[in-house]
Amino acid sequence: MTEQSDHSDANAAWAAKMARRKAVQDAEVASKTIEKGLLMVHTGPGKGKTTAAMGLALRMLGRERPVAVVQFIKGAWSTGERFAFQRFDDLLTWHSMGEGFTWETQDRARDIAACRRAWDEALAQMARPDLSMLILDELCIALRYDYLSADEVVAALQARRADLHVVVTGRNAPPALLEAADLITEMQATRHPFKAGVKAQEGIEF
Ligand code: ATP
Ligand code: MG
Repeated sequence: MTEQSDHSDANAAWAAKMARRKAVQDAEVASKTIEKGLLMVHTGPGKGKTTAAMGLALRMLGRERPVAVVQFIKGAWSTGERFAFQRFDDLLTWHSMGEGFTWETQDRARDIAACRRAWDEALAQMARPDLSMLILDELCIALRYDYLSADEVVAALQARRADLHVVVTGRNAPPALLEAADLITEMQATRHPFKAGVKAQEGIEF
């Protein structure tokens, strides 16, 4: 056998294998027929929960569909994404709780009141008939400290419009929220530069 025909035999075998794989994949894709608004949870100790949510917002904005972001806990900070999204102010609504971290404020009653206001805003956004995606950034933290009732929050999320996508971020997502979620991504902290003494840097952390 010549080297040439060896080569074309290998090519033919490869093409047949890929054709079989494509048939399997096409059948698999064709079997997925449901379309629905997803409840997505980004949790875990690693970096990327909020940035992945912002990536989804960008993807939806690219489809020219309205997105709302409500930030819990954080808000005293200015973040790069908030400035970037100002360029989409016709499609994007941004609401920050407007108070610092709880360990900065050390005022539980004030934190709870601020979380309530943010949650009321979230409910108002969920009631919008035109909204495609709602991002509830760091909502898990508010649930963790019992600033909001997990049962109440999950019930409201489950009662939302059927085609509304919701993204919830924050460490320690409570079991009731995980149970209700369609998608759960757990960020794993394999390595973080903070441990090596690198401070939070503009354009990376904020
Ligand atoms: P990001 O906003 O960068 O996507 P995140 O939403 O996953 O981060 P948060 O728990 O909201 O993480 O924490 C926000 C800040 O804490 C960010 O500045 C982030 O870089 C930092 N951070 C996240 N994970 C770790 C970690 N494992 N160790 C130290 N700092 C971290
Ligand atoms: Mg975050």
